[in-house]
Amino acid sequence: MGTVFVALAPSAHRVPQRSIEASDVERSWKLLETARQAAIQRLAVIQETTTKELGLQDAAIYAAQAAVLQDPEALRDLKRRVVDELQAPESAVQALLDHLSRTFEQLEGGDVKNWAADLRDPWELVLRHLHDEDIELARHMGEGSLVIVAEELTPTLVVRYPRNKVAALVCARGGRYSHGAVVARSYGIPTVTGVTEIDIKALAGESMVVYGGEGRVLVGADQEQCERALVRSAEVARVSEALAGLAEEAGRTKDGTPISLLANIESMHDLDLFDPNTVGGVGLFRTEFAYMERPSFPSVEEQVAVYKRVLDRFGQKPVVFRTLDIGADKQLRYFRTPEEVNPSLGWRGLRLSLDWQDLFLMQLQALYSCHEFGSVLIMLPMVTNLEEIRQARQLLDSIAGCGELKVQFGVMIEVPAAAMALADIIEEVDFVSVGTNDLVQYLFAVDRDNPWVSDLYQPYHPASLRVLQFIAQTCAKAGKPVSVCGEMAGQPEGALFLAGCGYTSLSMAPLFVPEIKAILREVDMEALQAVVSRACRATTEAEARGILHESSEDAWAKVLAMVKTADSRSNPHS
Ligand code: PEP
Ligand code: MG
Repeated sequence: MGTVFVALAPSAHRVPQRSIEASDVERSWKLLETARQAAIQRLAVIQETTTKELGLQDAAIYAAQAAVLQDPEALRDLKRRVVDELQAPESAVQALLDHLSRTFEQLEGGDVKNWAADLRDPWELVLRHLHDEDIELARHMGEGSLVIVAEELTPTLVVRYPRNKVAALVCARGGRYSHGAVVARSYGIPTVTGVTEIDIKALAGESMVVYGGEGRVLVGADQEQCERALVRSAEVARVSEALAGLAEEAGRTKDGTPISLLANIESMHDLDLFDPNTVGGVGLFRTEFAYMERPSFPSVEEQVAVYKRVLDRFGQKPVVFRTLDIGADKQLRYFRTPEEVNPSLGWRGLRLSLDWQDLFLMQLQALYSCHEFGSVLIMLPMVTNLEEIRQARQLLDSIAGCGELKVQFGVMIEVPAAAMALADIIEEVDFVSVGTNDLVQYLFAVDRDNPWVSDLYQPYHPASLRVLQFIAQTCAKAGKPVSVCGEMAGQPEGALFLAGCGYTSLSMAPLFVPEIKAILREVDMEALQAVVSRACRATTEAEARGILHESSEDAWAKVLAMVKTADSRSNPHS
């Protein structure tokens, strides 16, 4: 529960248009003014240091840039946009930038085009300061008091505001399996996306109750509704507390079939959110977030420091480091990929690493040199074919030199072509992990971020279940370990299905480990295998999901009964 705080639009590529309410004009203009002044001051500091280091002449450009930010015509234009046209401050600056680009594009000559860059640059700086101001504002709000509202759920939105201030996230766009949702889940932030029926941005300052599990928001809740929400959240907390008792038990089914439960890690902050003794290791460390949380590419030494911290925390337990998986909705501020018509089908993951081999080599070098600190597994994302794997392996071998490789080498299966070619691929790798978030997206030709087609994104459709069964069977035949690190692994229906298929480890946000562990311990492998074959024989998504849901509800009821018995034993009078 909290107060609605409307987030500024992110500036990874182009800031989208956003309008404001008339009541928000004064605050918005002040925000823009503060950001502009901060940019002018920053330019003055740069001018001073450049004068000292390079001399007056080279520093003159920064004085000129500061003057650009005082241009009365530009200021009039911005004021008109914010005050009269009710444009959000960042949209107004973006509109000014677009205007500058258009004007200079029409003129001839290389020099003229360079002036465009000089005029745009200072306003880009204002955009960056605007975002800093926004974060600063949130920093002064009460603990856990903000419901962050934004147009789109992106990974950077989730980490943008101080974590202790954020009670929930509510967005118009961004699928349940989008990267933003993945990160929000790992932080345990109640999140609802796809809210398009109401104009959420018009709710600035309103109180809101967010039911993350149900995908429901309540605007302007009265006292009774707030009290009911508090009771609900206390109940959820009680069950979680009871399950924490199982924390250090090993993952297994009722009949003792071991299923290793591993953690997905999105950011270094995750390391402080759970006890490493509660998991069998890390099944997916998304290294791109270590790149995102910085102003520039990390050096080999800086990367080693990050990877070592993770390995130190897990002792000899396996840690799967996935190499850089940027592109599409995961962007680095300092490395802009070109705008693509179909970014999810474009330049991302391993494709980008193989094209920028100097960057890739640095990462492989950093990862390989960490073998002395723990059990390192290197995993490639977005693999399409065997040639890519061989190319990457050659690069790794060039770093490792001759002799036996001291790390394990594996791939993610996320592209249907790689799934179908798995019998060949598996011969050349040590392990495989299935990224169901992307695999489902590509299998159904449905953008995982697009709410307009989200009803066709169906992890539990028999077509998807059969592919997952095929992958498990192919790996079993080859005698190689196979896990799932997509969101399905952390969902009760998904975990039961995957365990029944023969996946030997499941990797998920640590938050879900206790629940999945408890459910698995209530079911026999034989029963799970029967559920798997029934679900795979189903003809529709509803039928298959129904079968899986029934078995997970059954298991959950047993878990709740166990919690209740434990409760009444420790508290006989309640
Ligand atoms: C996946 O695609 O399932 C996966 C784990 O990778 P990401 O969500 O980071 O794309
Ligand atoms: Mg993926």
